[in-house]
Amino acid sequence: MRLSMVLLFAAGLAAPLTPALAAEIVVYSSRNEQLIKPMFDAYKKETGVTVKFITDKEGPLMARLKAEGKNTPADILMTVDAGNLWQASKEDLLRPVNSKVLMANIPAHLRDPGNEWFGLSVRARTIVYNTNKVKPGELSSYEDLASPKWKGRLCLRTSKKVYNQSLVAMMIHEYGEEKTEQIVRGWVANLATEPLPDDTKAMEAVAAGLCDATVVNTYYFGRLMGKNANLPLAIFWPNQNLKANNAGVHVNISGAGVTRHSRNEAEAVKLLEWLSSAHVQGYYADVNMEYPANPKVKPHQAVAAWGTFKPNLINVSEAGKLQTRAVMLMDRAGYK
Ligand code: FE
Repeated sequence: MRLSMVLLFAAGLAAPLTPALAAEIVVYSSRNEQLIKPMFDAYKKETGVTVKFITDKEGPLMARLKAEGKNTPADILMTVDAGNLWQASKEDLLRPVNSKVLMANIPAHLRDPGNEWFGLSVRARTIVYNTNKVKPGELSSYEDLASPKWKGRLCLRTSKKVYNQSLVAMMIHEYGEEKTEQIVRGWVANLATEPLPDDTKAMEAVAAGLCDATVVNTYYFGRLMGKNANLPLAIFWPNQNLKANNAGVHVNISGAGVTRHSRNEAEAVKLLEWLSSAHVQGYYADVNMEYPANPKVKPHQAVAAWGTFKPNLINVSEAGKLQTRAVMLMDRAGYK
């Protein structure tokens, strides 16, 4: 009894001396250590706040958040693809945050309409073609890759990847299921080979002449050309006729949200605001050859060299909403 009284008293005395805000927050991240650690080190220097992190694939991270529930040490979930963030929000792993800074820094189509997650970088999923075999004038849109002139000339990454699920989900949003299924069937009919396991393998197949064109995220193009600038590959920006449906290049995000059970909401929001700010956005995008989400910041010159494009401005959360239907549609269309 006495002891606990003493402890309570001591705790009461100590309370005003501890800082009002935590000096440490925890991030669960599917972005890997080499991309995030230098940023969090810079944050510590600027603010004194330590950012601890755990990296893993998004599936295990979300399962962990769910299993830990109220006891989770995580304040922020950081991952790629709006489909994943949408899923986290749907499973009640995130909470809405009210931040004028995030609203001002991140365009509306790159964040959750319910403010549970925010895009921090933009990735463009576009056409890459073999420059020895294709003239850019032959290319026009994602849906045109379904036309008979591409028979036996197309390579695609597997439909199991969320990037393709999001792309098809956005097409369903734009065209409806019937037309989108026709398009996906056309792609499958045009395949030169079975779907490939990743974007890099798809581009390597194009470079090797196994097929003439594919659809990939541009940062993989940047990495591959960085290793071998002589590959006969180039980027094409599709769907630039803005009068058409499905106007603009399909863009997705990497992003983050504050966890449902964070005990440091104010500090977590501050970190997100810092990540969205003009002086950090260049770095956040450049380390992975992505595009800044904050429109005040220009892409790295190596990325800018790929040319400018008009992005599709549909809210990226639609990719999440329509993901299940996209997966079923690709299955029906025989896209493995
Ligand atoms: Fe990726």
